[in-house]
Amino acid sequence: MLPKNISLRLQFSFKRKGRLFMAMHYSRNKVNRVLTLYKLAKLTEQEAWEIFRQGRFGDKEKFACPECGAIEKHWYINTRKQWHCKHCNHRFSVTSGTAFHNRKLSFSKLLWILFAFNTGLQGANANELPSDLGVTYKTAYLNFAKIREVIFETMDMTPLSGIVHIDCMHICGKPRRSNNRKSSDSFLVNNKLRARKDSIVPDKKTHPEPSNLKKLKNRRIILALSQLALNDDGSYGSNRTITYVLKKETAEIILPLIKKSVAKGSIIMTDFGGAFNKIEPMLGITHFSVNHSVQYQNELGVNNNQAESFFSRVRRGEFGTYNGILKTYLAYYAAEFAYRNDCKEIGISQRFYSLLTKVLNREPSKAFCGYNQGKRLGFEYCYS
Ligand SMILES: [Zn+2]
Repeated sequence: MLPKNISLRLQFSFKRKGRLFMAMHYSRNKVNRVLTLYKLAKLTEQEAWEIFRQGRFGDKEKFACPECGAIEKHWYINTRKQWHCKHCNHRFSVTSGTAFHNRKLSFSKLLWILFAFNTGLQGANANELPSDLGVTYKTAYLNFAKIREVIFETMDMTPLSGIVHIDCMHICGKPRRSNNRKSSDSFLVNNKLRARKDSIVPDKKTHPEPSNLKKLKNRRIILALSQLALNDDGSYGSNRTITYVLKKETAEIILPLIKKSVAKGSIIMTDFGGAFNKIEPMLGITHFSVNHSVQYQNELGVNNNQAESFFSRVRRGEFGTYNGILKTYLAYYAAEFAYRNDCKEIGISQRFYSLLTKVLNREPSKAFCGYNQGKRLGFEYCYS
């Protein structure tokens, strides 16, 4: 039953100020024209370095040594653009010990990469950078990947509140159409793609091809929890998203994650997925669900469209920008799309500088330091 004090219909109907309302993509907003690639490209190497210094240490005179933490006016070696700590004799640069540790690229190129990552609407395509910057694809991919890892590690995990839309999406491990058309026509392949149980237990009857059985074992599930918020124009959208990567879509895995990520007193909205059935009895959080085989929003206004639209952006990124995502790094990509979703109302300038500060305050990448020398992460961020 609905609590009497909550008028769901009122909360979910799109009330817009004024009679004429023209939907506008967030990228066209004025705040996204304050900082441009055109301006960044004009910066000298010294100016670009100054932006890095500002992003990492803030104060020009006194700041903490990354090694011993002593806040001091350190000796500056101008020719090497490094500092020498008076206390521990540690010598450090503006990127040492950060996600851009051991950088080979110039500061202006790194700023360009960070900017391109921020402005990509459906992901950042590393194939575009070689012609823009004159770097190799490997360099472009690695730098994007390091930024993505920082976003994953700095994701705000404080519990969501208010109304939270939750859903699951199946990704990776896509079966391919067989060469032999008799054994697998397009209708069958489409059905296979939608056969959810196959991601848990690959079925030999629907997937006779050994290669597809193997591929299906790579299938993963993204669980997205999206918090509803009121936009400036009076409509509702999502302002914070938490994502997890799962091996199976089961209540045993999903309920503890929801418990961790949704505050008591919130309202959860999902579809009729079996894993969500016991949210209310097990977690004590008010739960409404909508039957997606009949409708996307019921008479009371219950829907989980914010989670669905988040997934549609992930899917477009998967097909259109990345052309496939490895399960090993899927958690990073999910976090990237959550970041894009959460920052969409923030202006480009603020987004750019806050991401730069985040990157310069993280330790060197776990997954991508020494990647080109053959080092790999060795594990997967995945709940099973
Ligand atoms: Zn020191």
